[in-house]
Amino acid sequence: SRAPRTVLITGGAGFIGSNFVHHWCQHYPGDRVVVLDALTYAGNRNTLATLEGSANLRFVQGDICDRSLIDRLLQEEQIDTIAHFAAESHVDRSILGPGEFVRTNVVGTFTLLEAFRHYWQASDQPAHYRFHHVSTDEVYGSLEPTDPAFSETTPYAPNSPYSASKAGSDHLVRAYHHTYGLPTLITNCSNNYGPYHFPEKLIPLMCINILLGKPLPVYGDGQNVRDWLYVGDHCRALDVVIHRGTPGETYNIGGNNEVKNIDLVRQLCTLMDELAPDLPVRPAESLITFVKDRPGHDRRYAIDATKIRTELGWTPSVTVEEGLRRTVQWYLTHEEWWKPLLSQEYQDYYRKVYA
Ligand code: NAD
Repeated sequence: SRAPRTVLITGGAGFIGSNFVHHWCQHYPGDRVVVLDALTYAGNRNTLATLEGSANLRFVQGDICDRSLIDRLLQEEQIDTIAHFAAESHVDRSILGPGEFVRTNVVGTFTLLEAFRHYWQASDQPAHYRFHHVSTDEVYGSLEPTDPAFSETTPYAPNSPYSASKAGSDHLVRAYHHTYGLPTLITNCSNNYGPYHFPEKLIPLMCINILLGKPLPVYGDGQNVRDWLYVGDHCRALDVVIHRGTPGETYNIGGNNEVKNIDLVRQLCTLMDELAPDLPVRPAESLITFVKDRPGHDRRYAIDATKIRTELGWTPSVTVEEGLRRTVQWYLTHEEWWKPLLSQEYQDYYRKVYA
């Protein structure tokens, strides 16, 4: 049996954070969960609606850069575990406006670390406290086709303002362990997909555009390779690392599913042709349109997840075929979730990126 935890989940109204809140509440109903989220364009409180009646869940709208708010929450709730998801997360938006990425990802992570350090030191440094920082494989840069996959010892070489800001936050977390002994954990994960994914990201974008009969914009030659992991498998990995990971360590998380963007889009088209009852344009593939490449577009990411597999026994449980099928089904049956997100702000952003 395990002692209950009191967990602060930052960014818990975003894509992965909300999936993690659902995961945690389902597996550890005796734990107290406090969600802190600024509800930026990417945050959606509706995603947590089914959980908000629970006495064990508290939602706080606030900014991770707000030190006095963080201090108050740590004290008031006697937090012992932070699962830190809050971030600006979209590479294309970081190219249009990097400032917010430095503020939230670097300064925000620093603010949380500083608050947690003082609180942990004042509480006599309990051994079970954890600060889990959720990060990305993009900090390692780009691979050539024959390069070995990223491991935990691959040197950092971030290429976009997004990945550079995440790299900066990773380094701060590492330094807080090294300098102060703070019980931190870092995970670097490959591309996630699944329910509650904001429409701007590749997979939901394609699903939604197919449903609306709109062009499917594919960057460059479509040959960029990404490793895809079903979001539920990422949440299982984070759970394992929080409970059994060694403080100070980094773990890479990946699905061992390298797919070229164009092949992924074609798979989604085939699934939509099969599963959607009335598409405005068939076959969906006829909507594919190649567009000007993203500046500095990384060619290939791949994750070597040997460490988390051998040390902590985690492996992905959902194949990419199964995960994509589930995801397409989810977007088909949750129009009431994604439709309202296609706001004026979203249309303006969309026109800028795919101009
Ligand atoms: P997301 O953009 O869907 O969600 C981010 C959430 O953080 C939103 O709810 C937003 O409102 C909140 N937020 C933003 N700025 C904030 C601030 N200053 N204070 C408080 N809340 C704020 O992102 P996601 O895809 O769920 O990613 C979550 C984390 O996982 C990020 O740290 C990201 O770098 C990392 N990650 C994502 C992927 C992926 O494929 N999506 C892969 C690996 C790692």
